[in-house]
Amino acid sequence: MTEDEIKSLEEKLMFKQKNTYEIMSDGEIKKAYDFAEKYKTFMNNAKTEREGVRQIVSEAREKGFKEYEFGKKYSSGDKVYFVNREKAVILCVIGKKSLSEGVKICAAHIDSPRLDLKQNPLYQDGGLALFKTHYYGGIKKYQWTTVPMSLHGVMVKRDGTKVNVNIGEDDGDPEFVVTDLLPHLAQEQEKKSLASGVKGEDLNLLVGSRPFKGDDSSENIKLNILNLLFEKYGVTEEDFLSSELEAVPAFKAVDIGFDRSMIGAYGHDDNVDAYPAAQACINAENPEYTVMSVLTDKEEIGSMGNTGLRSSYMKYFINDLAKSEGLEGWQVLRKSECLSADVTAAYDPTYPEVMDKNNCAYLNKGVAVMKYTGARGKSGTSDCSAEFFGKVRNMLDDNNVVWQLGALGKVDVGGGGTVAQFVADLDVDVVDVGVAVLSMHAPFEVISKTDLWQAYRAFEVFFK
Ligand code: MN
Ligand code: MN
Repeated sequence: MTEDEIKSLEEKLMFKQKNTYEIMSDGEIKKAYDFAEKYKTFMNNAKTEREGVRQIVSEAREKGFKEYEFGKKYSSGDKVYFVNREKAVILCVIGKKSLSEGVKICAAHIDSPRLDLKQNPLYQDGGLALFKTHYYGGIKKYQWTTVPMSLHGVMVKRDGTKVNVNIGEDDGDPEFVVTDLLPHLAQEQEKKSLASGVKGEDLNLLVGSRPFKGDDSSENIKLNILNLLFEKYGVTEEDFLSSELEAVPAFKAVDIGFDRSMIGAYGHDDNVDAYPAAQACINAENPEYTVMSVLTDKEEIGSMGNTGLRSSYMKYFINDLAKSEGLEGWQVLRKSECLSADVTAAYDPTYPEVMDKNNCAYLNKGVAVMKYTGARGKSGTSDCSAEFFGKVRNMLDDNNVVWQLGALGKVDVGGGGTVAQFVADLDVDVVDVGVAVLSMHAPFEVISKTDLWQAYRAFEVFFK
């Protein structure tokens, strides 16, 4: 065989992953970078699930989406949205085909790891006022100290009225921080493991130090904080009992690298999939099948609760759509397909030992497709069938979407789940598709702009 023949045989037979920059035209790269700018703006305005819902609904409404009315009959091309308790949203565009042929679902989550406030959070100690927190989702606790934080959420007052809280995001706003021990006095702390060096009960948020004037009680700094909160929000300490307040990193999404090819931000997991999934549905015009993007809550704590995907809200929504055609929900679900749009780990050259190099995702190699997630012996996953994987693979290749294989690390190293298993429980074909992330679950995560774009393209062609 000549050298050329061997080369062409190699090309024909061997699987080689290409880089997005080798494949994408300059025009497409420009599109990807423009899309990334809109994503950054979204990130800065949607740091929590409630804010994510508000952003997505407001954009959907601008583009002609109307609030879904249960029991109403919709026709092809209609665009609707359904909000579940302000924390999850389904966008839906009615297709030309009958629902008996199934719907196409992109399911992503809009909650991210963070520090929730405890229900009675405020205390004074050592001349400082602090909030007790309870971390939400899987975090490496030490990463959350000495990070500027903002506070988001709602408080429900004794009279039933609700106040929205958002402090630390606007220019000039005060911010908050969890302190850490100085190295000079950390000899004992540094002997501990990373997991135990900073404990859950150590994640106390510093919120004040100035005493209330004219009061020498032992809680005068706390009193001053309560007075400020009362003046601004009309709330008392008891109102914290009926509140959901979330402390999240205060910094903005920024470009990373001299070449600006990446974005660093809080909450890429899973806004980096939720945003393109929402955009793909918002931009879907007269799709063949009925398409829906489900932007859900509570994935980071196992999808439990009535705003997570273990709840029946998506099923009930589809049941209602089905009824309008005289069908049962299960008749629609069993023909439906879902891209479980969630992030995966990106290969990090500083920590190569946790990855199987031939079975993991890399930055700039496109949107990652994972046959399964889970841990140990594939526990806690929906292991997608070869047939459905093959169908998705063909769809992506036929439409020139740059994609790569993803998997969450070496077999015995660890693992994690997504909503895929809960959608699969409904008798739907599901595969995990999403963007690879560096420093996943850290206060500041990193993704690639071209991967973000390829995720959008994947959801767009799925909805075509
Ligand atoms: Mn996720
Ligand atoms: Mn996660």
